[in-house]
Amino acid sequence: MSTTPTDCCADPGQKLLSVEQGRKRILTAVSAIQATEQLHLRAALGRILCEPVVARIDVPPFANSAMDGYAVRSEDCPDSGAVVLEIIGSAFAGAPFPDRVGAGQCVRIMTGAVLPDGADAVLMQEHVSREQGQIRYEHRAVQHGQNVRYAGEDTRRGDTVLPAGRRLGAAELGLLASVGVAEVCVTRKLRVAFFSTGDELASAGTPLVRGQIYDSNRYALFGMLSRPEIECYDLGVIPDRREAVRTAFREAAAMADLVLTTGGVSVGEADYVTETLGELGEISFWRMAMKPGKPLAFGRLGNAVFFGLPGNPVSVMATFYQFALPAIRKMTGQQAREPLLIQARSSQDLKKAPGRMEFQRGILQRGPDGQWQVSTTGLQGSHLLSSMSKANCFILLPADDTGATAGDLVTVQPFQDFSS
Ligand code: AMP
Ligand code: MG
Repeated sequence: MSTTPTDCCADPGQKLLSVEQGRKRILTAVSAIQATEQLHLRAALGRILCEPVVARIDVPPFANSAMDGYAVRSEDCPDSGAVVLEIIGSAFAGAPFPDRVGAGQCVRIMTGAVLPDGADAVLMQEHVSREQGQIRYEHRAVQHGQNVRYAGEDTRRGDTVLPAGRRLGAAELGLLASVGVAEVCVTRKLRVAFFSTGDELASAGTPLVRGQIYDSNRYALFGMLSRPEIECYDLGVIPDRREAVRTAFREAAAMADLVLTTGGVSVGEADYVTETLGELGEISFWRMAMKPGKPLAFGRLGNAVFFGLPGNPVSVMATFYQFALPAIRKMTGQQAREPLLIQARSSQDLKKAPGRMEFQRGILQRGPDGQWQVSTTGLQGSHLLSSMSKANCFILLPADDTGATAGDLVTVQPFQDFSS
């Protein structure tokens, strides 16, 4: 990475960097934070496991009944003919039968109760008739292991139940509890500091003067950064002045693992982000072959990773999801995964000029034929935040494409892909 903003594509005449190339460079340049913390299960919800968890017990810990019924010896229930068995006791979940089941005997058993010694199968209670201390059974032959859940069927002692890098969701918390784990080691929260740059920005809740707009980026960023694995710090709006930008960078770099800014990375006269980063850190300035969101500054500021996102709100969201989020996943130690991409039929013609990959905002739904279909949200300007709010997916149109015709299959990335 160079120390001046000339690394790649800084020259407007130079070739654009593809989204794929950009993401690769970013992922090569960032690494997982090493700090960890030990948390109780509930506090670990949504966090990233930092080491594999190995089961120290079998789950279930003992063979038990899958049904309410009668525990029997399968050899007592031959292929044909009725059989009568003596009931010698009962077994409840949590209250095992203490003795052994012998020839011609059975034990009343409830779902989850330990399978008594001697028994190897369970008859469903609906399949027997009960008369004074006895049951009568005349269905088909009983198989060894019928209606029995074996010890270790779910998890065996010594098995890796969860690998490092797994996000702990509801199923994972339950799984950990099932093997008796009460505390887990997770990656400590990633500290992310962010601020907006721009003299035109007013904060929501204050009156607008002519020439001002409300700062929406900080709110959208707050929303995108509000994740269990992140601790985010909103540093406010920084005016377009060199000294103010410098001070904000220093402050952000001192407190965070990752610094995100919006605005000021274009080639306008008040765009100080790239320049200041060139002085204070290691910065690459890229022109991405992407629409929305062409300019992107990426680099390092002290120990922090730095992203200078564009200013336009839709560009901010698109570049965050395509570049910053994969970096966050890697920095927090998450397992790498492929994006969730779906093929859907376009409901209308989609216009596009060749050159940049487009992330049009789309509405994905099932068509009358039960297949996925997608339509755009309408106007696609990078300043039109309502297009993001109406959408539930990006429609990905490859750089070289000239658009799509109604009925064509197009690739779609549902916004749900960004929630994990
Ligand atoms: P810039 O890259 O700073 O020139 O910004 C590009 C466009 O995005 C301009 O129209 C800015 O007014 C707009 N913009 C920049 N920052 C924000 C923000 N925080 N909220 C809303 N719009 C913004
Ligand atoms: Mg600006």
